[in-house]
Amino acid sequence: MTVDYTTHDGVAVITLNNPPVNGLGHSTRAGIVAGLERARQDSQVSAIVLTGAGKVFCGGADITEFNTPKATQEPMLGAVIRALESSAKPVVAALHGVAMGGGLELALGAHYRVAARGTQIALPEVKLGILPGAGGTQRLPRAIGLQRALDMIVTGTPVMSEALADTALFDKLVDADLLAAARELACEAAARPGPHPTLRDRAIGDHDAAATHIASARKQIAETAKHFPAPHRCIDAIEAGVLHGFDQGLAFERECFNALVQSTESRALRHAFFGERAAGKIADVPSDTPTRTIAQVCVIGAGTMGGGIAMNFANAGLPVTLIDTSQPALERGLATIRKNYDNTVKKGKLAADVAEQRLSRITPSLSYDDLKQADLIVEAVFEDLSVKEQVFRQIDALAKPDAILASNTSTLDLNRIAAFTQRPQDVVGMHFFSPANVMKLLEVVRGEKTAKDVLATVMKLAKKIGKTAVVAGVCDGFIGNRMIEQYVRQSFFMLEEGALPAQVDRAIEAFGFAMGPFRMSDLAGNDIGWAIRKRRYREHPEQRYSTVADRLCEMGRFGQKTGGGWYDYAAGDRTARPSQLVDEMIVAHAQEAGITRRELSDEEIVERLVYALVNEGARILDEGIASKASDIDMVYLTGYGFPLWRGGPMLYADTVGLAEVERAIGRYAAAQPNGDAWDIAPGLVERATQGRRFNG
Ligand code: NAD
Repeated sequence: MTVDYTTHDGVAVITLNNPPVNGLGHSTRAGIVAGLERARQDSQVSAIVLTGAGKVFCGGADITEFNTPKATQEPMLGAVIRALESSAKPVVAALHGVAMGGGLELALGAHYRVAARGTQIALPEVKLGILPGAGGTQRLPRAIGLQRALDMIVTGTPVMSEALADTALFDKLVDADLLAAARELACEAAARPGPHPTLRDRAIGDHDAAATHIASARKQIAETAKHFPAPHRCIDAIEAGVLHGFDQGLAFERECFNALVQSTESRALRHAFFGERAAGKIADVPSDTPTRTIAQVCVIGAGTMGGGIAMNFANAGLPVTLIDTSQPALERGLATIRKNYDNTVKKGKLAADVAEQRLSRITPSLSYDDLKQADLIVEAVFEDLSVKEQVFRQIDALAKPDAILASNTSTLDLNRIAAFTQRPQDVVGMHFFSPANVMKLLEVVRGEKTAKDVLATVMKLAKKIGKTAVVAGVCDGFIGNRMIEQYVRQSFFMLEEGALPAQVDRAIEAFGFAMGPFRMSDLAGNDIGWAIRKRRYREHPEQRYSTVADRLCEMGRFGQKTGGGWYDYAAGDRTARPSQLVDEMIVAHAQEAGITRRELSDEEIVERLVYALVNEGARILDEGIASKASDIDMVYLTGYGFPLWRGGPMLYADTVGLAEVERAIGRYAAAQPNGDAWDIAPGLVERATQGRRFNG
């Protein structure tokens, strides 16, 4: 039973009881309707209270029923609300904790509402690319006024009940005894003659003022919602109610809802929403796996990454010891940390005293002895196996038993690093992305011997420090960098074949990437890729790489940090300006390599870059480096600036159709083999042939 029914002195109390958030699954919807009918038939009952068990009134739809037949089984939420609204006996909704989405829409169908102070009120549907589909766009404006309703519906942001105390949304706000207050209100209402007030019958305000608010809301989202239809449809639906009345507004809202649910953008947003949750679940590490206590952290290496990593823990309230080998290195690291905090304070995003408190949690040290107390040690020293060996042997000798030993390595073999210690089960990869205090993504690298409780602990800790953690197996580059290498490799081939950096970047940025490959390389430093390629040339002489980027590096053009890379940069200015020198070098390089340059279309550029990701992603999936396609998508959405509205490379490939992706790769491979670069992943071909997708 997900709905309880009791009576108290002539008042029927219908209690949603579907933990954890009283989601409106099918049995709950049916239970409410059954409760209303029971109350209608009971002559002893004169009024009804609708409330929620546990900590919340109702969090909205039951997400476990999403995409199942139950989600569309009658009674649907609209019918439940109609039953509430048309009840001859007054219905009072009693809200506490959370009244969100369908939960709020349900409450809007009641005749009266009482709320506890501190209740979160929201219609967050827009965040999943849809709109409130059970009258929310029609009833909320009638309850709280057009301007505030527009704001809540178009942004999906929660508002506290007390902030809406002056509106018709609530008949009463209480500090305690919510149910008693609701029952009292129900009895008072029952004493009055019906019919009882409904929001559908309330006026919505005058048309001129409404037109102004609507125009201003449209203007506000013009830029931010360029790629998302839902915020626009929210405004359209609200406007329809203003212009044509409640019933037509409601019908239009339904029409918009049905269209949005099918849209690529909503599928992408829902994929990201569920992908984030799914990433936290590891098939063979049950959610009740015991975790270790992490109360004290130590970060080794105070460079680019170590400083940012330390900030993450300090921000979450954990004391951090930051160790480096020399005083100047420590001082440089701390100065950068301080500068980062100062900038956040200057931007008004953090109070100065809070920044100071966070900074004070970071204790610099030159002695490895200071790692003895740490529950977690994160190594972020130079990317060199012999340095890692030396560091891990020292950590192993000093760390307390049960401490977790993490490495931030980007490319080195974690199993080898683990083998430098006597406790490989305690070693795990925590691959942060730069800047580590900003980027959401954390690849958690699972070594051959990593213990389950170590993984469970790190996943939990990742949540605490606000990261999206994705588990990756051990391989060169893990998920994200292994795929990006193929993407960057294509970008170099295209330079030889006829494109220039600015064209490639423009094309992929128009597709929606935050930054094209050349601007990205200039930001990260072209020397990093150069070092990796030199290793590739040694380890895999059979693979073909364009050497155009090596030529750039030979010119000393490492990117922004040297004032020039693929682009020119003026001092103190990060604007990328096409470089005549580099463009001429590219043309000369092609000529020397005997390649006849041709015009490349933007479509070809985008396909080659994105399909290179997809092809490598397929291999990563089939090798078990990623355990599900949505994990790969989460890596790209949170760490690589892949456009959210396309849902990540694997979902994008599913949307295009894998047979089409296979055909396109075949075309490019035939036209320009680029060595092994277009060897197609068997798993991609197999899925395409069988008509399957990467994501379910
Ligand atoms: P960095 O050169 O900026 O910093 C390394 C720091 O480690 C320096 O301060 C150095 O003094 C210190 N160090 C060197 N040997 C040490 C030792 N034995 N004990 C203590 N400290 C020592 O390097 P970085 O960019 O911060 O990279 C660190 C690690 O993070 C590497 O493994 C790298 O692959 C990885 N990583 C880097 C990035 C990035 O974008 N820079 C991203 C993800 C992961």
